[in-house]
Amino acid sequence: MSGPASWQAAREHVLLFSRRLLAERLVYFTAGNISMRIPDDPDLVAVTPASTPYDTMRPEDVVIVRTDGRVVDGMLRPTSELPLHTLTYVRRPDVGGIVHTHSAAAMAVAAMGIGIPPILHGLVSACGGGIVTAPYARGGTAELAELTAGALRDRSACLLRNHGVLAIGPTVDHAYNAASVVEGAADAYLRAFAFRPVPQIAPAEVERIRREQWAPAWSGRRAGPTHGG
Ligand SMILES: [Zn+2]
Repeated sequence: MSGPASWQAAREHVLLFSRRLLAERLVYFTAGNISMRIPDDPDLVAVTPASTPYDTMRPEDVVIVRTDGRVVDGMLRPTSELPLHTLTYVRRPDVGGIVHTHSAAAMAVAAMGIGIPPILHGLVSACGGGIVTAPYARGGTAELAELTAGALRDRSACLLRNHGVLAIGPTVDHAYNAASVVEGAADAYLRAFAFRPVPQIAPAEVERIRREQWAPAWSGRRAGPTHGG
């Protein structure tokens, strides 16, 4: 393994969450991707390779790239969604990890082009409120990264129209938590939708959860993600 110890640690951390993606069925086969910023070199990112099954992926398969998209270390090509990752890291210095999933219920909501309103406490504490769907752009394009930036706003996740989920966090742990919570919330929303209108959490309470449980993670005042309530 070439590169300093921090590259190795990041590769292993990305691999750990990649395996969780598969175990939790947030992706099918080789879909989706994960990246994290290298803590001691914010211009470098460890990112999953293109078209590689997660169950046989090895730490050295995780590619080290610069935020301008150049590969620094690794034998495999980075994910085809690399612009979505690198452009987000350049635009958002506060983002330390990105998780992109193709989970079933979230894809159903993304296909309809609707959002998930703040109907569950866990969604607000993990994502900062209800989330919206970014307009359609084809995967792998810079246009998708542009549209996603607008849809993320001050949230930890958004849906990608006719595609899947993008989750961000101050760490990859937080981003993964947000992606996982979005799938659970999407599933609950689709079930509740049969009895619509689905009641939402009162705006004042949404604001309180944001302030007390979501925002502290971004300001470094809370160590790890919680699957709140
Ligand atoms: Zn995708």
